[in-house]
Amino acid sequence: MGRSKTKKAARDAAKVPGRKAGEVPQAVTQPMAKVRAAPGTVMITCPVTRKPLSTGLAMDAASFASSALVNNSVSCPRCGGMHTWSKQNAYIAG
Ligand SMILES: [Zn+2]
Repeated sequence: MGRSKTKKAARDAAKVPGRKAGEVPQAVTQPMAKVRAAPGTVMITCPVTRKPLSTGLAMDAASFASSALVNNSVSCPRCGGMHTWSKQNAYIAG
């Protein structure tokens, strides 16, 4: 995981408040309305399919900001794998 650590540091440094660095515009990549998560759902992006994936957690932005979310695992229905995610990989849907 040494490689991703360096990459993460670079991305954090480039982060602009109010903007999600590295996120794909959702309007273009959402042909299926049924996968839309409820507002407040913590989402990640599946590294295999590059699609939004619900972590099953729900919280408001303030709780998300103050939470230490590290090394969480989620079973991915899109690719069938397990993904480990941390706060910097996640975002709140809505
Ligand atoms: Zn996946």
